[in-house]
Amino acid sequence: MDRNASKRQVPATIAFVLTLGTHVQFVKGIGPQIAQLLAARGITTVEDLLYHLPFRYEDRLHPRALNELQPGEMASVIAEVRGSALLRTRAMPIFEMTVGQGIHSLKCIWFRGTYLKDKFKHGQMVALYGKVEASRSGRGFKMIQPQFEVLPSDHDEDDEGRLLEVGRIVPVYESLGGNKLTSRWIRRVVFNLLKELNEDVPETLPGALLERLKLPGRAAALQYVHFPPPGTPISQLQASATEAHKRLIFEELFYLELGLELKRRKFKEREGIAFETNDQVREAIREVLPFHPTAAQKRALAEIVADMRRSSPMRRLLQGDVGSGKTIVALQAMLVAIENGYQAALMAPTEILATQHYLAARKLLERSSKRYRIVLLTGSLDEDLKRLNRRRISEGEADVVIGTHALIEEKVEFHKLGLIVVDEQHRFGVMQRFKLMRKHTDSEPDVLVMTATPIPRTLALSLYGDLDLSVLDELPPGRTPIVTRKIGDERAEDVWKFVREQVAKGHQAYVVYPVIEGAKGDQPELDFAPVEPEEEKPAKKKAKARQLFEKPTLKAATEMYESLRTGALAGLRLGLLHGRLDSDEKEIVMRRFQRGEIDVLISTTVIEVGVDVPNATVMVIEHAERFGLAQLHQLRGRVGRGAAKSYCILMTGGKVSPEAEERLAAMVRTQNGFELAELDLQLRGPGEFFGTRQAGLPDFRVANLLRDREVLEMAKSEAVRFVQDPEGEASEEERKLVRARLREAWQRRYGLVEAG
Ligand code: ADP
Ligand code: MG
Repeated sequence: MDRNASKRQVPATIAFVLTLGTHVQFVKGIGPQIAQLLAARGITTVEDLLYHLPFRYEDRLHPRALNELQPGEMASVIAEVRGSALLRTRAMPIFEMTVGQGIHSLKCIWFRGTYLKDKFKHGQMVALYGKVEASRSGRGFKMIQPQFEVLPSDHDEDDEGRLLEVGRIVPVYESLGGNKLTSRWIRRVVFNLLKELNEDVPETLPGALLERLKLPGRAAALQYVHFPPPGTPISQLQASATEAHKRLIFEELFYLELGLELKRRKFKEREGIAFETNDQVREAIREVLPFHPTAAQKRALAEIVADMRRSSPMRRLLQGDVGSGKTIVALQAMLVAIENGYQAALMAPTEILATQHYLAARKLLERSSKRYRIVLLTGSLDEDLKRLNRRRISEGEADVVIGTHALIEEKVEFHKLGLIVVDEQHRFGVMQRFKLMRKHTDSEPDVLVMTATPIPRTLALSLYGDLDLSVLDELPPGRTPIVTRKIGDERAEDVWKFVREQVAKGHQAYVVYPVIEGAKGDQPELDFAPVEPEEEKPAKKKAKARQLFEKPTLKAATEMYESLRTGALAGLRLGLLHGRLDSDEKEIVMRRFQRGEIDVLISTTVIEVGVDVPNATVMVIEHAERFGLAQLHQLRGRVGRGAAKSYCILMTGGKVSPEAEERLAAMVRTQNGFELAELDLQLRGPGEFFGTRQAGLPDFRVANLLRDREVLEMAKSEAVRFVQDPEGEASEEERKLVRARLREAWQRRYGLVEAG
């Protein structure tokens, strides 16, 4: 590395003081070129670099001796290179190396290891980390694809290397770019930064808070997580469970929660609408109710109505498992607004869902003696109709407006908007929600957010920390559990026979496929615009590669529609539904299915959320191995909505990964959405849980929602405490600091200009 390059950036005559805010370009060892590489990874300042924490640690003070390794364990060893060779097998080149300690040896194997050919020299010391396996001969052990570092030897000139890489607990970092910005490189840069900063790292949390939680200061914590003192238990470090880790995690989550809490309060202070609920309103609600609400529905509605009566604007999340009956609660709330002379809007994530809500709302409102005016507004309505509907909305000729995103994104002027209901919230993402809520200026409409995905409490806390929560924890009466079976492709004939039997009994069925057309590059179906694109995550890329790999064998909706229509399901009335139909076509198909004019609906996952046809009793999901748990649960939720016994058939085609097996087994085992959501979160991680793109999840640098639940709860309660009594919690100086940090965190990390 050209160290002089960076020196040239800094005129020697100016005393250069390194701070956390210093641009990385001015750091010793980093020039403009590397700075650019780092910027691509979101690292622009010294602080960013310091918050790139090690993802694991190696104990090179007490490395494992080769003769005490156990097969199956992950181990760190230090040994001497004894020999190596590149073997050219027919399948691929394999690089083999033998390392030793005294009479004991260990074999290391790297597939496609040509790049390692000249890497190691006889007699060199190397640090290896990997899984220990018994070697095939039965004698000794091997490691397959271990991670490695060549260590500096005693006579190397490299003092720094000896200091940092041997005889201590060594931090291992995720590379920040190819084979240049390696773990070793980061280690040295960070080490020097910490030395140069010399504890000159401003504290970001109030002293009283740190003392109460017994957390270390920021400077000490950073030093500790990068270069833990000898004797720190490795297991604690690996689990990010040291006090130092906790402190940094807490800091990150505290500022997220503080921002959310301030937002919540600020909204509350705004002038909202104090709706009245007199006898007339109550009668209007009673009139449309087609059944007795469950106790949970009554409770939720009471909470919502109490909010609506207050003059501060409502910000409430209605959470309930699939089929718990959120829609009717929302419609009742909308009636409160309408009866008070306001308009109510319901936004859905897909056109099909918006259309269905529109149909359902119309049916329900027709029960009333009043004539409510209800308007549909979706992206693919033809322009004239859109324009007409917009005019009806702006001139107050529509009481209820139901639509998709188009509602927010296009210029819809409401005459007098009183309530916004956002259905299936997880599809929108946090950031979009903030956008929507900012839009209205004069008197704030109330906002009710509904989510069908049972969000684990930890995520709910961080995603919806600014909302109040109502939960529907009870299903309407008369539901029988859905029978769920996993069945291999080869038994398809049995499945279609079963579908025929159900249809013969007067029921209906869904058959769902992951893509529309099999031929060319169809992505899994989503008929809504994704949230602003962000940089693609490596995990996502991998998933894409996997999709490509599996594509040729995927069954697709359109082709299967043809093949079933003329084959296994010939004679039944089939319908085809996917996101590429325009909204009229979708509406027609949905209506016909709802009226029972279609027996079997062949569809993509556009029907995943919300679709409600109680007479449908069979959900067949082909390529079920390809769907996420949350998605499978949503799909299964389309049946079992009436009194008749319902079935979910998970068909698998092709190879099923162990992880997919686990998902399918969970589906068969339980119908509890919360349980499934927790498992899904564990299997996929919080980003994927909501579908990375759609998630709008804040990008954490040290926190991990899965691992850090306790810290998150702590951060939440501390944030509330701080907001309630800033003077009691912090000195004036500290409060200033907290405010500045908050602003920065929300601008940089969560991409929002205002923190609250
Ligand atoms: P979700 O919470 O998944 O949006 P829906 O609101 O679509 O659930 O309701 C699921 C089904 O249950 C619908 O057919 C609805 O009409 C019916 N339903 C809702 N509440 C009740 C109730 N209290 N009694 C009987 N059926 C109900
Ligand atoms: Mg719903």
